Amino acid sequence: MARYLLALLLAAASTHATAQAAAPALIAEIAARSEMQRNLEELCDDIGPRMTGTPGLQRAQEWAMRKLASYGAVNVHLEAYELGRPWQRGRAHARLLNANSLPLNVMQKAWTKGTRGAIRADVALLNVKTLADFNAALPRLKGKIVLAESSPREAPTQALRDAGVAAVLQVSGKEDGLQDMWGGPGQRYDSNAGIITREHANLLKRLLARGITPRLELALDGGFAAKSVQAHNVVADFPGSEPGGEMVILGAHLDSWDLSSGATDNGAGVVTMLEVMRAMRATGLQPKRTLRVVLFSGEEQGLLGSKAYVAAHRDELARIQAVLVQDAGSGRILAFPDMQEEAWYGPMSAALAPTKALGEIDLHYAKGLGSDHETFYKQGIPAFTPLQESRNYRTHTQHSQVDTIDHIDHADLQQAAQVTAILAWGLLDGERLPHID
Ligand SMILES: [Zn+2]
Repeated sequence: MARYLLALLLAAASTHATAQAAAPALIAEIAARSEMQRNLEELCDDIGPRMTGTPGLQRAQEWAMRKLASYGAVNVHLEAYELGRPWQRGRAHARLLNANSLPLNVMQKAWTKGTRGAIRADVALLNVKTLADFNAALPRLKGKIVLAESSPREAPTQALRDAGVAAVLQVSGKEDGLQDMWGGPGQRYDSNAGIITREHANLLKRLLARGITPRLELALDGGFAAKSVQAHNVVADFPGSEPGGEMVILGAHLDSWDLSSGATDNGAGVVTMLEVMRAMRATGLQPKRTLRVVLFSGEEQGLLGSKAYVAAHRDELARIQAVLVQDAGSGRILAFPDMQEEAWYGPMSAALAPTKALGEIDLHYAKGLGSDHETFYKQGIPAFTPLQESRNYRTHTQHSQVDTIDHIDHADLQQAAQVTAILAWGLLDGERLPHID
């Protein structure tokens, strides 16, 4: 018994020693030889927008696979899933035909059919809270360009189209003339929809409030390609030493919206995960479990890539130790939500402990959802995403026309990669996290 205990203690001590040695090595490697800034420039300034289903994303995937292979990853490959007919942006034009005659900042909402040429119509405001009010409002919207300030969640997708509206303008969630792109195959308004900046929506509302009906010329010439295509995820491994095939997945989404170069959403997450793979190989560490990097696509259209991944890998989901996804901008990592699972708290705390040198990174009692880790979490798999310093991510850069490298601080990126590398190492080598039923 005593000998058994001693063996256990020695094993614990040696694991502890490895973990203690790994953190400084990873911190030093990333501090000395980070390729994140260069990778971000190649991804954003050379390749640029990477909307799912476009050649830009394909170029980015080829680029990412070359990088992963050059960092020593193996099994580097693409995994395909059906996207349907890809959406292509076209010309968007909007202008007031009365009042001050200003051109209006309107972009076509993605995954909508568009107007096919310019239409002219009066604006009507839709600002209702209940389904009954929504239904009551429908008759007065026929033939109008509907400024959809608010309508109930359960309002049927078909209803506005059936009511014969000319077009729908949804209002950007941001200010300062910033756009806020969204849309995907499962959305509510799928025909003739644009997104108008908040300031220009306010102009239309002020006119309406004074009894002046704005009349607009509107052209939204994007639409769907004729043929369905496949979309892809990039997958790459650093094999673990232990048989049994448990793995830690590091994820980020390589797709972006197309109004800018997707630096903070999610270029930052992509270059972080590439850097963790690079540093892990460069330091010569050998984890027990396999480190797998998955760069998803279709995240912006409704987590399509991670849903496809989980569906295609059903047989090996049980072997996933944990999933870490970074997708909240480019700010430094402040904390991780513990997903309110008591059984995950201990092993996650232990894995995070060696990050002390990089700041007090806590495990918060919270749930953080909203990106590709959510797909895994819904299967009971331990899946986490960091809380990051905001750096105006949600108010400015995310999904807007200013999602550029200018808004990224390299010291923040470096800290995020160091924290992620240390946590990943802890999860690769540490105690098993249970799945939840
Ligand atoms: Zn994102």
